Amino acid sequence: MASYRELLRGVKSRIHEIDVRELDAQRSGAAKSVVIDVREQDEVEQGIIPGAIHIPRGYLESRVEQYVPDLETPVVAYCAAGNRSAFAAETLQQMGYKNVTSLKGGFGAWKDGGFKFVVPRDLTPAQMKRYSRHVLIPEIGKEGQLKLLDSKVLIIGAGGLGSPSGYYLAAAGVGTIGIVDSDVVDESNLQRQILHNSTRIGQPKVESAKKTLEELNPDVKVIPYQERLTRDNVLNIFGEYDLIVDGSDNFPTRYLVNDAAVLLRKTVVHGSIFRFDGQVSVFKPFEGPCYRCVFPEPPPPELAPTCDEAGTLGILPGIVGLFEANEAVKLLLGIGDPLIGRLLMIDALAVEFRTLRLKRDPNCPVCGEHKRFSGFVDYEVSTAIPQPA
Ligand SMILES: [Zn+2]
Repeated sequence: MASYRELLRGVKSRIHEIDVRELDAQRSGAAKSVVIDVREQDEVEQGIIPGAIHIPRGYLESRVEQYVPDLETPVVAYCAAGNRSAFAAETLQQMGYKNVTSLKGGFGAWKDGGFKFVVPRDLTPAQMKRYSRHVLIPEIGKEGQLKLLDSKVLIIGAGGLGSPSGYYLAAAGVGTIGIVDSDVVDESNLQRQILHNSTRIGQPKVESAKKTLEELNPDVKVIPYQERLTRDNVLNIFGEYDLIVDGSDNFPTRYLVNDAAVLLRKTVVHGSIFRFDGQVSVFKPFEGPCYRCVFPEPPPPELAPTCDEAGTLGILPGIVGLFEANEAVKLLLGIGDPLIGRLLMIDALAVEFRTLRLKRDPNCPVCGEHKRFSGFVDYEVSTAIPQPA
């Protein structure tokens, strides 16, 4: 039998403590430790040490390995006054963590010492519910969900590819979604462009898309651009966004998207479809090839029919658009292995997936070493095969 005081004295004799000054010095030094806040949710809402991970004491044992997989990583635990974290530190030692300390005086001492703290932004109760299946995943969690809510994604085209990617990006809680499309809804679109429906025929696609997405998720702000993407508006529009999802269906737009994205160093998630074949890639300027490195020149129009001319299986843009949405979310969260420098090729008839390695072209006119790019090429009045400047 031992009283709380005796227990605490015993624990403190078996762990190491550091004071707030030491922790502050450590945080600006090279050897970064992981700081774990073991307090309860309502305490954390009042303020937290910047960069600390919140794992309430009751969940410490079950969750810590998700956040700190390496037992060699130095860990500092803190609570309000330094007692709960002393017990937490002993538990972490028992779990095999080699370098554990408890913050003497806890968050109270940190705050009183005049050190910086932040009041964490949190998901609202409604958002906790809506995104609970994301929050449960350690790679996303609340922090990742807040990141998605802060993200701005521009979708080129509210058509076959933009429909599924827009739908799922909105459902996932990407907070701002811009959509560029000059068209109105046509009956022949409805076989695949699932953002729209029979009652919206004749309405601008961007307005129809906005209505669908904002009804699906009121957290999402949809910004419609009912215009064609041109060399005159592309830089202004792109400038507002973190990431571009290309769902365009023609070569001039793809080159324009590429060139503007390289110029502004914005990553483009690319998707394209033809009848039963789909392609997906991610073009991250200067880290992988750009669209022009891979496709230096557009094919002549007779070899590059659009969906309107060649037809497409209605399901295929759904598959390709969802791969685009998947890449977008990975890029926004900084998780996984995006398709940079790889081209995913999908054969919907054979159900075969192939991945081609793509290389940067040192002579690429937009991202190459000796780039000759000197402004946008006006494809609409140029010949079928424009020559790079
Ligand atoms: Zn290039």
